[in-house]
Amino acid sequence: MSCKKISILGVTGSVGQSAANVIISAHENFDVQVVTAGSNVERLAEDAIRLKAKKAAIADETKYEDLKTLLTGTEIEAYAGKNSIEEIAAEPCDLVLAAIVGFAGLRPILSALKNGINVAIANKEPLVAAGALVMETARKSGAKILPVDSEHNAIFQCFEESNRKSIETIILTASGGPFLDWDIKNIKSATINQAITHPNWSMGRKISVDSATMMNKALEVIEAHYLFEVPPEKIDIVIHPQSVIHSMVSYCDGSILAQMGASDMRTPVAYALGWPERIKTPGKTLDIKTLSKLTFQKPDFDKFPALRFAYEALDRGGVSQIALNAANEQAVDLFLKERISFGRITEAIEKALLWTESEASDKDIKTVEDIEEFNNNVRSFVTKDVL
Ligand code: NAD
Ligand code: MG
Repeated sequence: MSCKKISILGVTGSVGQSAANVIISAHENFDVQVVTAGSNVERLAEDAIRLKAKKAAIADETKYEDLKTLLTGTEIEAYAGKNSIEEIAAEPCDLVLAAIVGFAGLRPILSALKNGINVAIANKEPLVAAGALVMETARKSGAKILPVDSEHNAIFQCFEESNRKSIETIILTASGGPFLDWDIKNIKSATINQAITHPNWSMGRKISVDSATMMNKALEVIEAHYLFEVPPEKIDIVIHPQSVIHSMVSYCDGSILAQMGASDMRTPVAYALGWPERIKTPGKTLDIKTLSKLTFQKPDFDKFPALRFAYEALDRGGVSQIALNAANEQAVDLFLKERISFGRITEAIEKALLWTESEASDKDIKTVEDIEEFNNNVRSFVTKDVL
């Protein structure tokens, strides 16, 4: 593989660290341009140095002097502020890894795509809130979007574009999260620690809570709709607690193609970074001989109403998708700050979706500014409503 110039947005996070690990172990294949982070300045500086980046940017402006000090004696340029991340995402390179968490990743993704830069996308929230805009921006510039989320990466590996018409269903697998077998009453009062302790994956706090409500799967249904351009009725969810099969594609001849692997993000990250070639990773591998059984079950839409919200939001249109994501981000934030109980997260989202129906329509919200404004309105509504 020839050497790829790569930038990593959100390098200090869980996906960002998986990527750093893959890049260091296959360093001859990558030349790191830019690394960014939200506020963890020490980690950002360390990563910039060990990855031999040219530039490092921190979203939190108050950390600029710290970043400069930590990079003293190196040739790495320091930047700070939200705008600097958006600008730096457009620096010429072969691939940007989008691994910021939440809606905050939208502008940097658009900025890379507008400049024709391919984006390996882990950051699912911008695809949920602004999927049509993100895909349209890529189409216009010819930039390619490579899925990193393990399910979408699996689908990407199993999706025969030349046989698109013969595809019957995309089957997203879900571990079911930590509360799969819990009683609904106990789920409502789950603690932060219980919610962020995922049975199979080690991830950032927000996505761990999303897995516990199963909102993560809801977001992934919408993510799949935009990434693969398939209608909602062709996207299915199956509970697969072992997380060995990362997702499947079923075809009209009865074939179902599945991708398997260990529960280790380094595999999908490496696939997206190396694409169209495969590269070796330092991650865990699956020893198929030690697997005793793989099980599958139907998801429970009553116990996990978030799953229902995804299909409802897809049916209602763009504004409902912005609302679904914004309400979830705000409610999860409040839960992680111990301001609301676990059970109130999905209640808050349901209310925000209802409120949205009378509040906004797709024809009013087109530009990125409109999307941002409505995202903020929904977040304020949730705070006022639940506190
Ligand atoms: P994380 O919280 O561990 O890391 C988030 C990164 O984004 C950090 O580098 C942080 O500094 C940066 N960041 C946070 N807020 C920011 C802001 N306002 N501006 C700029 N940078 C900011 O999150 P994660 O678990 O690595 O997840 C990242 C994204 O990937 C999420 O969208 C998540 O849904 C998705 N994803 C994660 C996993 C996983 O295994 N962790 C798997 C699939 C998809
Ligand atoms: Mg996933």
